[in-house]
Amino acid sequence: MKCVTGKNAYESEEFAREALIQNRIHFNHREGNGPINIYLCSDCNAWHFTSTGTEADFLKEDEVINRIQKEIRLRNWTDEY
Ligand SMILES: [Zn+2]
Repeated sequence: MKCVTGKNAYESEEFAREALIQNRIHFNHREGNGPINIYLCSDCNAWHFTSTGTEADFLKEDEVINRIQKEIRLRNWTDEY
């Protein structure tokens, strides 16, 4: 199902959260860049990323922050070889 916004759509909040975490890991955005939150779309009734507004609370949880940093380190290490 395609949304009028043209954005990737996630069928549940949980999927959208996980996808946003993966996005942070793989693109390693600089501060103030990239998507920072998810929202429920009124057009397609699915979840999308947004880069405006306030950063999602779940991205500030220690567990999530640690996981992102750890995976970025692993990724950087792999890229060097
Ligand atoms: Zn939509």
